[in-house]
Amino acid sequence: MKTESIPAGGEKAVAVERIPPILSKPLARYLELESILHNFFESTGYCKENYGKTCKGCCNENVVEYPKIITGCSELDEERIRIYGVGNLKGGCPYSSEEGCILKTHKTPKCIAYICPQFARALKEQGIEYDWLETHALLVSILNEAKFDWWSGSKIESYRISDEEFSEIKRQFKKSLKT
Ligand code: SF4
Ligand code: SF4
Repeated sequence: MKTESIPAGGEKAVAVERIPPILSKPLARYLELESILHNFFESTGYCKENYGKTCKGCCNENVVEYPKIITGCSELDEERIRIYGVGNLKGGCPYSSEEGCILKTHKTPKCIAYICPQFARALKEQGIEYDWLETHALLVSILNEAKFDWWSGSKIESYRISDEEFSEIKRQFKKSLKT
């Protein structure tokens, strides 16, 4: 039987790699909101039905160039690279592929929040008012525990919230999506 040799310390290194790091609370909350939105968008089936027919894709942000003045984004970037690698650096966004975006998690706020006007209209017809800019602002605030002045990029207000307040935000968010 063929056996593969493990270099000294190799087992330990593999084991350590499998242990998920302890995420900061803001990033953990951000990922929770990302998951809610991702599942909601998937559940509508809208993008899948339109993909490859009329849809040209909604990737309008190259994650590598996403503004990094906002501090929470660096932890998000580090985690994304740890999980998905650096991606394909030869094209535009390193995570785009012929099948669409390869990221299931850890997207930038804009990549998570944005949907095209057609999709927004379809949601509206079902009584769901979705404003991607508002969602984008919420995600950035949660990730950075701060609100920002979008023109200068400076922090204008602290946005530290308790677990109870975050639960309420999630409840309202889900309610607005009718989930
Ligand atoms: S939001 Fe619109 S542009 Fe983006 S993938 Fe869905 S259908 Fe396509
Ligand atoms: S990370 Fe995904 S959604 Fe964002 S720009 Fe790249 S391919 Fe598009």
